Amino acid sequence: MMHFDESMALIESLEIGQYKTKKLYITDAVGHVLAEDIIADHNSPEFPTSAMDGYAIRGEDQKIGRLKIASINPAGSALSDKVRGGICIKTFTGSLMPEGADTLIPIENVTVEGNDILINEAVPHGFSVREVGENYAKGQKLIEAGTKIDFSHIGVLASLNIVHVSVYLKPTVAILSTGSELLDLGEMQTNDAQIRSSNNYVVEAIVRKYDGIPMQLGCIKDDKKSITTAISEALEKSDVVVTTGGVSVGDFDFVKDVIRELGCEVIFKGVRVKPGQHIMVARKGDRFIVGLPGFAYSATVMALVYVVPLLEKLQQGKSTMHTVKAKLTEPFVKRAKKEEFTACNISLVDGKYYVDFKGKKLGTSAILTNMLGNTALLVTSEDETSKEAGDEVTVLLFG
Ligand code: AMP
Ligand code: MG
Repeated sequence: MMHFDESMALIESLEIGQYKTKKLYITDAVGHVLAEDIIADHNSPEFPTSAMDGYAIRGEDQKIGRLKIASINPAGSALSDKVRGGICIKTFTGSLMPEGADTLIPIENVTVEGNDILINEAVPHGFSVREVGENYAKGQKLIEAGTKIDFSHIGVLASLNIVHVSVYLKPTVAILSTGSELLDLGEMQTNDAQIRSSNNYVVEAIVRKYDGIPMQLGCIKDDKKSITTAISEALEKSDVVVTTGGVSVGDFDFVKDVIRELGCEVIFKGVRVKPGQHIMVARKGDRFIVGLPGFAYSATVMALVYVVPLLEKLQQGKSTMHTVKAKLTEPFVKRAKKEEFTACNISLVDGKYYVDFKGKKLGTSAILTNMLGNTALLVTSEDETSKEAGDEVTVLLFG
């Protein structure tokens, strides 16, 4: 079995033949990964602009105390009047500053007397004037390719008069669970040995959350022929196929054999991780297959660890999951000499992360409920041993 780090390095170094992109209307692009750098083609603002309602003046004229109002300069008008010594121009939020003026004295700081203003409270030189390029400067890279587009990017795109942006297509992910014991949603139970399938829905949710387009294919019995047909059809219509179950060493674990027999190139099979050591990742040309284990907790963790980075890789996106350092508030017992992912409660107090295991059950990898609550995954490498309260640990956040 492979070291965990080696398996991650293999995912990171996967060669992707062709990235698929398309142009989308900017707000439709939210949640997609940007496929081009966004560079400012102008300064914003292009000219010194007033940030308040008031009077454009020469800062030094404030010592005169009384200035003549020469004209009015509403937002959107291209004013030709200039400010000279002893005069001011009434100017509003968003109006260009008239030539000759360097300071905006707010309405609140003056009294109007006839056609004059009296300065009650002086302001510093340059007050309330938005300088050229205050927002961004021409030539500046504002959003980098690889960024996942969010509402904050839309304002910048719109202000650059960009209507459509180039984004990476979200990969389509076909999902199927294997197991003769599985009942799909709504399916009637006919014997006591049957269990409700949850894995295919957890994977569907993870795919949706981490920017893939899920294609739910349901459950398939442990029958080699059916599994072969299902996986080969899934490979035809999707970028990634995610299966659950059937990768272990039991007599009815056919998925691992089928993947090989379909002529896929195995990238790895078996990693020293807990849970999920039978994980399998393979490819057929530009299509990928991730064979997740069957146990519910294992399937969830392995999907987070391997499927999410693969989806990001297929869109050239930046990693959305990250690890943080946290302090243990109770001891941690290392159970295996493997990279271990342990469900824990995470809290943030005064800017520091703390970890405990209250309510988390010790048991098999079937315990799905350990993922409920404010959960993160405590990550320990295969060389690490048990830890004491107060020790610093690494935690994978996905909330
Ligand atoms: P397997 O990896 O196929 O040997 O499955 C291991 C265990 O995970 C079995 O006890 C199954 O009952 C359980 N399991 C398999 N598939 C699912 C599923 N889709 N949803 C929930 N549990 C499952
Ligand atoms: Mg099975």
